[in-house]
Amino acid sequence: MNNSKPHAIGLDIGGTTITGAIINKTGDILEKISIDTNPETCPDEVLERVYRMIDALLDNSNVPIDEIAGIGVAAAGVIDSKEKVIVFANNLGWRNVPIGKLLGDRFDFPVKLTNDANAAAVAEWIWGEGRGCQNMIYITVSTGIGSGIISGGRMITGSDDSGGEFGHISINPDGPQCLCGNRGCIERYASGTAIAERVQSQLEDGPHRKTFFGYEKASLLTSEIVGKAAEHGDELALSAFKEAGFYLGIGMTNLINLFNPEVIILGGGVMKAQHFMLPTIKETINERGIAALTKRVQVSISYLEQEGGVLGGAGLFFIDQPSLTNNLSYI
Ligand SMILES: [Zn+2]
Repeated sequence: MNNSKPHAIGLDIGGTTITGAIINKTGDILEKISIDTNPETCPDEVLERVYRMIDALLDNSNVPIDEIAGIGVAAAGVIDSKEKVIVFANNLGWRNVPIGKLLGDRFDFPVKLTNDANAAAVAEWIWGEGRGCQNMIYITVSTGIGSGIISGGRMITGSDDSGGEFGHISINPDGPQCLCGNRGCIERYASGTAIAERVQSQLEDGPHRKTFFGYEKASLLTSEIVGKAAEHGDELALSAFKEAGFYLGIGMTNLINLFNPEVIILGGGVMKAQHFMLPTIKETINERGIAALTKRVQVSISYLEQEGGVLGGAGLFFIDQPSLTNNLSYI
């Protein structure tokens, strides 16, 4: 049953920035505020600032309280959506923060919680590139790689909210060690971190390359710098993105074979370099995939991007979600 209240508050809790917004059912952001997270301070202090931010959102907007369905929170890390607890958030240093109870006590609104990749998938599903689809996958490529999977009109989160770890599918049993304990995870080949590391190691190996796009200290390399170099036609940078695109394409072919999606949406900071990666991604999918499955899949780039977290958080109130084991549907 769709919620009859036409507005919801979306809250995106990231390691650097926390953004809150009041959003209506058509996906318009009526009011938005961002604050620095300053994760080194304790959760209570961070949450005090979040409470003041939500107060300000409510004051600044003319939306009556009784037209707000609730607060939908998107957070990175391990979360328990049923108990509404942030179990472990590496980027915040938070463990077992009962955010649902804390926000619920303070504001007397219902609270929902999901992880940031799932939130972005919900936003794409309701308002973005996945609109109207029953089978879609959102992939975020940034320092790490994550995904949100909607299959048969249901968000697939698994028994502990821990599914969708696309970045930790192994594509090479003898590949580089990953922090998750496995080897050869896609994240070790195609994340922003992996792209920067690949360029850095080649700079160190190649005596003829003392500098890279003006950055003499290779240790400062980021995928953003590699992106700038690629825009200037640097061959090493271009080949690093191409290689990442190849591995992403291999991983996405696995997803297509498993889930037969209508659309796969790519987002995250690294996809700013989409034009250096997308041709290789599509080529690889076409070469490696099963034609009957790949011919119908559309690969798109997210245009919600920065707003995906707040939109998806609020969007949790605009989809049917009686339980994760029952069907969801978009409005
Ligand atoms: Zn891994």
